[in-house]
Amino acid sequence: MQNIPRIIGQYDRHREGPLLVVTAGVHGNEPAGIYALERIFKNLYKDAPMLHGKIIGLSGNRQGLKKGVRYIDEDLNRIWTLANLATQKADSSEKKEMFHILRILQQNLTARYPRHYFIDCHTTSSESAPYLSAQDQNENLSWAQQFPLHIVRGFSDLIQGGLDAYETRMGMTGFVCEAGQHQSKASIENLEGMIWLALHQVCGLPFEDLEHFPKAVHNIEKKRTSRKIFEILYCHHITPADHFKMKPGYQNFQKIEKDEHLASQNGKPIYSRWDAYLFMPLYQQQGNEGFFIIQETSA
Ligand SMILES: [Zn+2]
Repeated sequence: MQNIPRIIGQYDRHREGPLLVVTAGVHGNEPAGIYALERIFKNLYKDAPMLHGKIIGLSGNRQGLKKGVRYIDEDLNRIWTLANLATQKADSSEKKEMFHILRILQQNLTARYPRHYFIDCHTTSSESAPYLSAQDQNENLSWAQQFPLHIVRGFSDLIQGGLDAYETRMGMTGFVCEAGQHQSKASIENLEGMIWLALHQVCGLPFEDLEHFPKAVHNIEKKRTSRKIFEILYCHHITPADHFKMKPGYQNFQKIEKDEHLASQNGKPIYSRWDAYLFMPLYQQQGNEGFFIIQETSA
Protein backbone atom coordinates (compact mmCIF):
# COMPACT_ATOMS: atom_id res chain seq x y z
CA MET A 1 0.00 0.00 0.00
CA GLN A 2 1.35 3.42 -0.95
CA ASN A 3 0.99 6.63 1.02
CA ILE A 4 -2.20 5.94 2.90
CA PRO A 5 -3.59 9.12 4.44
CA ARG A 6 -4.06 9.16 8.23
CA ILE A 7 -7.66 10.20 7.75
CA ILE A 8 -9.18 7.73 5.29
CA GLY A 9 -12.41 9.70 5.36
CA GLN A 10 -14.87 11.63 7.47
CA TYR A 11 -18.52 12.27 6.95
CA ASP A 12 -21.28 14.14 8.71
CA ARG A 13 -24.49 15.96 7.87
CA HIS A 14 -24.16 18.58 10.60
CA ARG A 15 -26.74 16.90 12.79
CA GLU A 16 -26.37 16.29 16.47
CA GLY A 17 -25.33 12.75 17.34
CA PRO A 18 -22.48 10.46 18.33
CA LEU A 19 -18.93 10.19 17.05
CA LEU A 20 -17.90 6.87 15.49
CA VAL A 21 -14.14 6.33 15.16
CA VAL A 22 -13.06 3.40 12.97
CA THR A 23 -9.36 2.51 12.99
CA ALA A 24 -7.79 0.13 10.47
CA GLY A 25 -4.32 -1.22 9.76
CA VAL A 26 -3.04 -0.78 13.30
CA HIS A 27 -1.10 -3.88 12.29
CA GLY A 28 0.56 -3.06 8.97
CA ASN A 29 -0.02 -6.54 7.51
CA GLU A 30 -3.78 -6.18 8.01
CA PRO A 31 -5.00 -3.86 5.23
CA ALA A 32 -8.57 -5.26 5.03
CA GLY A 33 -10.00 -2.49 7.22
CA ILE A 34 -8.43 0.18 5.02
CA TYR A 35 -10.17 -1.27 1.94
CA ALA A 36 -13.45 -1.53 3.87
CA LEU A 37 -13.23 2.13 4.93
CA GLU A 38 -12.41 3.22 1.37
CA ARG A 39 -15.57 1.47 0.14
CA ILE A 40 -17.69 2.99 2.91
CA PHE A 41 -16.56 6.57 2.31
CA LYS A 42 -16.86 6.22 -1.46
CA ASN A 43 -20.52 5.31 -0.97
CA LEU A 44 -21.16 7.94 1.69
CA TYR A 45 -19.76 10.72 -0.52
CA LYS A 46 -21.68 9.46 -3.55
CA ASP A 47 -25.09 8.83 -1.96
CA ALA A 48 -24.92 11.47 0.81
CA PRO A 49 -27.24 9.65 3.23
CA MET A 50 -28.72 11.28 6.34
CA LEU A 51 -26.57 10.74 9.43
CA HIS A 52 -26.59 11.84 13.05
CA GLY A 53 -23.16 12.74 14.40
CA LYS A 54 -20.04 11.86 12.47
CA ILE A 55 -17.88 8.96 11.31
CA ILE A 56 -14.13 9.29 10.97
CA GLY A 57 -11.92 6.52 9.57
CA LEU A 58 -8.24 6.46 10.54
CA SER A 59 -5.30 4.42 9.33
CA GLY A 60 -3.03 2.89 11.98
CA ASN A 61 0.50 1.82 11.17
CA ARG A 62 1.11 3.74 7.94
CA GLN A 63 4.79 2.76 7.68
CA GLY A 64 3.90 -0.87 8.39
CA LEU A 65 1.11 -0.78 5.78
CA LYS A 66 3.54 0.62 3.21
CA LYS A 67 5.86 -2.33 3.75
CA GLY A 68 3.14 -4.90 4.44
CA VAL A 69 4.62 -5.81 7.84
CA ARG A 70 2.93 -6.07 11.22
CA TYR A 71 5.22 -3.38 12.62
CA ILE A 72 8.56 -1.63 12.06
CA ASP A 73 10.03 -1.27 15.59
CA GLU A 74 7.32 -2.39 17.99
CA ASP A 75 3.69 -3.47 18.03
CA LEU A 76 1.44 -0.39 17.69
CA ASN A 77 -1.27 -2.32 19.50
CA ARG A 78 0.84 -2.84 22.66
CA ILE A 79 2.23 0.65 23.34
CA TRP A 80 -0.85 2.64 24.43
CA THR A 81 0.22 2.48 28.06
CA LEU A 82 -0.12 5.32 30.56
CA ALA A 83 3.67 5.32 30.97
CA ASN A 84 4.37 5.69 27.22
CA LEU A 85 1.71 8.35 26.80
CA ALA A 86 3.10 10.31 29.75
CA THR A 87 6.65 10.42 28.35
CA GLN A 88 5.47 12.02 25.08
CA LYS A 89 8.61 10.50 23.52
CA ALA A 90 8.18 9.46 19.89
CA ASP A 91 11.29 7.28 19.94
CA SER A 92 10.12 4.56 17.56
CA SER A 93 8.28 4.39 14.24
CA GLU A 94 5.14 3.17 16.05
CA LYS A 95 5.28 5.82 18.77
CA LYS A 96 5.30 8.46 16.01
CA GLU A 97 2.15 6.84 14.63
CA MET A 98 0.62 6.67 18.11
CA PHE A 99 1.10 10.34 18.91
CA HIS A 100 -0.23 11.35 15.49
CA ILE A 101 -3.36 9.21 15.96
CA LEU A 102 -3.69 10.58 19.47
CA ARG A 103 -3.71 14.18 18.21
CA ILE A 104 -6.53 13.43 15.80
CA LEU A 105 -8.51 11.53 18.43
CA GLN A 106 -8.16 14.41 20.86
CA GLN A 107 -9.36 16.90 18.23
CA ASN A 108 -12.46 14.77 17.73
CA LEU A 109 -13.32 13.51 21.22
CA THR A 110 -15.17 16.65 22.17
CA ALA A 111 -18.37 17.40 24.04
CA ARG A 112 -19.89 18.26 20.68
CA TYR A 113 -20.72 14.56 20.41
CA PRO A 114 -22.76 13.16 23.31
CA ARG A 115 -21.35 9.63 22.85
CA HIS A 116 -18.08 8.32 21.45
CA TYR A 117 -17.91 4.88 19.80
CA PHE A 118 -15.04 2.96 18.23
CA ILE A 119 -14.36 -0.11 16.11
CA ASP A 120 -10.74 -1.23 15.70
CA CYS A 121 -10.46 -3.39 12.56
CA HIS A 122 -8.09 -6.37 12.54
CA THR A 123 -7.56 -9.69 10.77
CA THR A 124 -5.82 -12.92 11.76
CA SER A 125 -2.95 -14.93 10.26
CA SER A 126 -4.98 -18.15 10.12
CA GLU A 127 -8.50 -18.75 8.84
CA SER A 128 -11.10 -17.89 11.44
CA ALA A 129 -14.75 -17.10 11.81
CA PRO A 130 -15.00 -13.33 12.33
CA TYR A 131 -15.46 -12.23 15.93
CA LEU A 132 -15.52 -9.25 18.24
CA SER A 133 -13.14 -8.93 21.14
CA ALA A 134 -14.55 -6.59 23.76
CA GLN A 135 -13.10 -5.41 27.02
CA ASP A 136 -15.38 -6.15 29.93
CA GLN A 137 -15.80 -2.43 30.64
CA ASN A 138 -18.13 0.51 30.01
CA GLU A 139 -20.91 -0.57 27.67
CA ASN A 140 -18.56 -2.38 25.32
CA LEU A 141 -20.25 -5.75 25.70
CA SER A 142 -23.81 -4.57 25.44
CA TRP A 143 -22.94 -2.64 22.30
CA ALA A 144 -21.06 -5.61 20.83
CA GLN A 145 -24.18 -7.72 21.36
CA GLN A 146 -26.09 -5.59 18.85
CA PHE A 147 -23.93 -7.08 16.07
CA PRO A 148 -24.22 -10.51 14.41
CA LEU A 149 -20.67 -11.79 15.10
CA HIS A 150 -19.30 -14.05 17.83
CA ILE A 151 -18.05 -12.17 20.89
CA VAL A 152 -15.04 -13.16 22.96
CA ARG A 153 -15.20 -11.29 26.23
CA GLY A 154 -12.27 -10.63 28.48
CA PHE A 155 -9.56 -11.38 25.92
CA SER A 156 -8.77 -7.69 25.34
CA ASP A 157 -8.46 -7.26 29.12
CA LEU A 158 -5.43 -9.60 29.06
CA ILE A 159 -3.53 -7.44 26.57
CA GLN A 160 -1.47 -4.52 27.82
CA GLY A 161 -1.22 -1.32 25.81
CA GLY A 162 -3.89 -2.02 23.19
CA LEU A 163 -5.53 0.85 21.33
CA ASP A 164 -8.96 -0.43 22.34
CA ALA A 165 -7.93 -0.32 26.01
CA TYR A 166 -6.86 3.30 25.54
CA GLU A 167 -10.14 4.20 23.83
CA THR A 168 -12.11 2.45 26.55
CA ARG A 169 -10.13 4.37 29.16
CA MET A 170 -11.12 7.59 27.38
CA GLY A 171 -14.76 6.70 28.00
CA MET A 172 -15.44 5.46 24.49
CA THR A 173 -17.62 2.42 23.80
CA GLY A 174 -16.35 -0.15 21.36
CA PHE A 175 -14.40 -3.27 20.52
CA VAL A 176 -11.87 -4.93 18.24
CA CYS A 177 -13.27 -6.70 15.19
CA GLU A 178 -11.15 -9.65 14.03
CA ALA A 179 -12.72 -10.09 10.63
CA GLY A 180 -11.03 -13.22 9.26
CA GLN A 181 -7.79 -14.10 7.51
CA HIS A 182 -5.44 -11.25 6.46
CA GLN A 183 -5.73 -11.79 2.68
CA SER A 184 -9.30 -13.03 2.53
CA LYS A 185 -11.87 -11.00 0.56
CA ALA A 186 -14.45 -12.06 3.14
CA SER A 187 -12.52 -10.13 5.81
CA ILE A 188 -12.99 -6.87 3.88
CA GLU A 189 -16.67 -7.59 3.44
CA ASN A 190 -17.15 -8.50 7.10
CA LEU A 191 -15.57 -5.20 8.17
CA GLU A 192 -17.61 -3.27 5.64
CA GLY A 193 -20.78 -4.90 6.96
CA MET A 194 -19.83 -4.10 10.55
CA ILE A 195 -19.18 -0.43 9.78
CA TRP A 196 -22.48 -0.05 7.89
CA LEU A 197 -24.32 -1.68 10.78
CA ALA A 198 -22.63 0.63 13.27
CA LEU A 199 -23.58 3.66 11.14
CA HIS A 200 -27.15 2.43 11.03
CA GLN A 201 -27.28 1.51 14.69
CA VAL A 202 -25.64 4.49 16.43
CA CYS A 203 -25.77 7.24 13.78
CA GLY A 204 -29.23 6.38 12.48
CA LEU A 205 -28.13 6.04 8.85
CA PRO A 206 -31.19 4.91 6.85
CA PHE A 207 -30.15 2.21 4.38
CA GLU A 208 -32.92 3.48 2.06
CA ASP A 209 -30.82 6.62 1.52
CA LEU A 210 -28.18 4.52 -0.25
CA GLU A 211 -28.55 3.76 -3.92
CA HIS A 212 -28.00 0.06 -3.18
CA PHE A 213 -28.60 -1.74 0.11
CA PRO A 214 -25.05 -2.88 1.09
CA LYS A 215 -24.51 -6.53 0.17
CA ALA A 216 -21.98 -6.72 3.00
CA VAL A 217 -24.76 -6.04 5.52
CA HIS A 218 -26.98 -8.67 3.97
CA ASN A 219 -24.16 -11.26 4.17
CA ILE A 220 -23.02 -10.49 7.70
CA GLU A 221 -26.61 -10.58 8.99
CA LYS A 222 -26.78 -14.27 8.01
CA LYS A 223 -24.43 -14.98 10.90
CA ARG A 224 -26.77 -13.55 13.54
CA THR A 225 -28.68 -16.75 14.31
CA SER A 226 -25.51 -18.76 15.02
CA ARG A 227 -23.78 -15.97 16.98
CA LYS A 228 -22.27 -17.11 20.30
CA ILE A 229 -20.77 -15.26 23.25
CA PHE A 230 -17.65 -16.79 24.79
CA GLU A 231 -15.57 -16.20 27.87
CA ILE A 232 -11.99 -17.27 28.49
CA LEU A 233 -11.60 -20.36 30.62
CA TYR A 234 -7.88 -21.04 30.33
CA CYS A 235 -4.72 -19.69 28.72
CA HIS A 236 -1.84 -22.05 27.96
CA HIS A 237 1.27 -19.93 28.53
CA ILE A 238 4.57 -20.98 27.00
CA THR A 239 8.10 -19.62 27.23
CA PRO A 240 10.73 -19.36 24.47
CA ALA A 241 12.46 -22.36 26.08
CA ASP A 242 9.40 -24.58 25.60
CA HIS A 243 9.16 -26.78 22.56
CA PHE A 244 5.46 -26.40 21.86
CA LYS A 245 3.64 -27.99 18.95
CA MET A 246 -0.09 -27.76 18.35
CA LYS A 247 -1.66 -30.82 16.70
CA PRO A 248 -2.32 -29.89 13.07
CA GLY A 249 -5.72 -28.93 11.72
CA TYR A 250 -7.30 -27.04 14.60
CA GLN A 251 -9.28 -23.90 13.89
CA ASN A 252 -10.43 -20.98 15.94
CA PHE A 253 -13.73 -21.75 17.73
CA GLN A 254 -13.37 -25.48 17.09
CA LYS A 255 -15.29 -27.59 19.58
CA ILE A 256 -13.08 -29.86 21.69
CA GLU A 257 -13.75 -32.63 24.15
CA LYS A 258 -12.28 -33.70 27.43
CA ASP A 259 -9.14 -35.88 27.07
CA GLU A 260 -8.64 -34.81 23.44
CA HIS A 261 -4.97 -34.66 22.45
CA LEU A 262 -4.44 -30.95 21.65
CA ALA A 263 -0.71 -30.40 21.50
CA SER A 264 2.66 -31.55 22.71
CA GLN A 265 5.15 -29.67 24.81
CA ASN A 266 8.74 -30.70 25.52
CA GLY A 267 7.89 -34.17 24.26
CA LYS A 268 4.82 -34.62 26.47
CA PRO A 269 1.23 -34.70 25.22
CA ILE A 270 -1.25 -32.05 26.37
CA TYR A 271 -4.80 -33.34 26.77
CA SER A 272 -7.93 -31.25 27.04
CA ARG A 273 -9.41 -30.96 30.50
CA TRP A 274 -12.55 -29.39 29.07
CA ASP A 275 -15.60 -29.89 26.91
CA ALA A 276 -15.33 -26.45 25.40
CA TYR A 277 -13.94 -24.52 22.43
CA LEU A 278 -10.40 -23.91 21.26
CA PHE A 279 -9.32 -20.33 20.63
CA MET A 280 -6.20 -18.99 18.90
CA PRO A 281 -4.21 -22.21 18.50
CA LEU A 282 -0.57 -21.29 17.85
CA TYR A 283 0.79 -22.48 14.52
CA GLN A 284 3.46 -19.82 14.08
CA GLN A 285 6.98 -19.93 15.40
CA GLN A 286 6.61 -17.20 17.99
CA GLY A 287 4.07 -16.59 20.68
CA ASN A 288 3.58 -16.48 24.40
CA GLU A 289 0.35 -18.46 24.39
CA GLY A 290 -0.01 -21.94 22.92
CA PHE A 291 -3.80 -21.80 22.90
CA PHE A 292 -6.81 -20.55 24.81
CA ILE A 293 -9.86 -22.45 25.95
CA ILE A 294 -13.16 -20.61 25.78
CA GLN A 295 -16.65 -21.58 26.82
CA GLU A 296 -20.06 -20.33 25.84
CA THR A 297 -21.74 -17.87 28.14
CA SER A 298 -25.14 -16.27 28.05
CA ALA A 299 -24.04 -12.61 28.14
ZN1 LIG B 1 -4.19 -7.14 14.33
